[in-house]
Amino acid sequence: MCGERDPGLRNGALQQKFSAPERVLGEMRRHLHRLRQLLPLSLRCSLQERSPGRARRWREVPGIERVEARNQAVLTFDDGPDAGPAATDAVLDALDAAGAKATFFVVGEQMEKAPDLVPEILARGHEVGVHGQRHFRHDRVPSAESVADIEAGCATLAEALGTPPRFYRPPYGKLSEAGAEACRRLGLEVAYWSTWGLDWEPLPADRVARRVNRDLEAGAVVLLHDSARYAVRPDAAATVGAIASIADRASALGLDLVTLGAAVDAPAPVAAR
Ligand SMILES: [Zn+2]
Repeated sequence: MCGERDPGLRNGALQQKFSAPERVLGEMRRHLHRLRQLLPLSLRCSLQERSPGRARRWREVPGIERVEARNQAVLTFDDGPDAGPAATDAVLDALDAAGAKATFFVVGEQMEKAPDLVPEILARGHEVGVHGQRHFRHDRVPSAESVADIEAGCATLAEALGTPPRFYRPPYGKLSEAGAEACRRLGLEVAYWSTWGLDWEPLPADRVARRVNRDLEAGAVVLLHDSARYAVRPDAAATVGAIASIADRASALGLDLVTLGAAVDAPAPVAAR
């Protein structure tokens, strides 16, 4: 169960011992990842849109990419909770105004900075899943670090929820085999997405909305962010500004915006005869 962790892990001080080559290799890969931020915005966006590596990885380490619900779609918000301006609170207000429910994938180290926000998200009728204790690519760290982070993030959220969380979303959609095994052991369902708003990039609200609306359909799972703490942009204002337009598009398509859990549990559509 999530609650059995070494409490030291919950403060981000991962205690695992790794070999020096593993550690050096991991650091080099993390720096290479940062170099991508030097590319022009349009090139970065198109590189991220065309990622054969992601499709291959998701086949190897499967998870939920879309749901079968006929009249529903799911908005998900990663990287919070964030008590800053134009972040989680503003997303919650925009969702309320749109009459939408959503799933928030939270980071343990952020929960510790803003302990009141997970209860607030739940009180507004949304769902909360695990995004890890810290935020890094799990395919670029030693297996033990990946497992320890999932365990610690799960434990932090379980304590806030009073019950084990249901879903885990790996940062960047990159999960290790060892991490997938940890999810199975902890009873966590891995959740990816079917489309996104590219809203970690500094795009305006109308571009975020257009990107989401292009792929919005029954069963879509949409990746968005209620925090910019791990992003290039300064805050989540563009995401907040995109929500009304996304909700309007969903309404025009006859779709209810619901939590991932509600959509997964919805009765499967009856096949047309
Ligand atoms: Zn993230």
